[in-house]
Amino acid sequence: MTLHVPTTPPASSSALVLFSGGQDSTTCLAWALEHFDRVETISFDYGQRHVVELDCRTRVAAALRARFPEWGAKLGEDHMIDLKVLGQISETALTQARTIELNANQLPNTFVPGRNLMFLTFAAAVAYRRGLKVLVGGMCETDYSGYPDCRDDTLKALQVALNLGMDQRFVIETPLMWIDKARTWKLSESLGGQPLVDLIRTETHTCYLGQRDVLHEWGYGCGTCPACELRARGWAAYVSARKA
Ligand code: ZN
Repeated sequence: MTLHVPTTPPASSSALVLFSGGQDSTTCLAWALEHFDRVETISFDYGQRHVVELDCRTRVAAALRARFPEWGAKLGEDHMIDLKVLGQISETALTQARTIELNANQLPNTFVPGRNLMFLTFAAAVAYRRGLKVLVGGMCETDYSGYPDCRDDTLKALQVALNLGMDQRFVIETPLMWIDKARTWKLSESLGGQPLVDLIRTETHTCYLGQRDVLHEWGYGCGTCPACELRARGWAAYVSARKA
């Protein structure tokens, strides 16, 4: 199997990346640093059960600066937004001590209703103030959990709403929208070679349960939650495609 990775030309020279410290958003950050002259990052504290991911983002950003000086020179301010109100109004396995399972509507109870809509709206408000034109997010329709706010149509509609409501020409870029997890690893490889793959493998965090004691081939995590399973499957497919 040959892995083809799409590359999108930049619409402008500055971008704001939704950066949580996970595999997807770190790949998006590298993508933005490769394509834009000025890149800032934003993240949201919404009372996640595990702050380990938020700790990772500091380490990932520091590692990117240290190992990729050209990217580091473009990496500007980081914005941490307090959205704890989101945890107060939603009962999900990401914000409360609950077992991960499917709800009656077949969506996993890790779904935080409207989360990405709120994240992007707050991101646009920050981008407006900072003069940033492109919003970059790791939403993906290819092997996702069915979250409706990750869908391409949702994000295109939101882009229109934000531009109308703020009288701007923001562009929402989602470099991972049409690629699976194996191709996400391949995209990291094409952006930053083995050093970036290694950085993402060992520094980023995806596990829903917040476990970081065992380093698997594909990175740290419990190995059994849906996020770990998806990451492990993607890594295995990436490695076997690389050998082929
Ligand atoms: Zn896990």
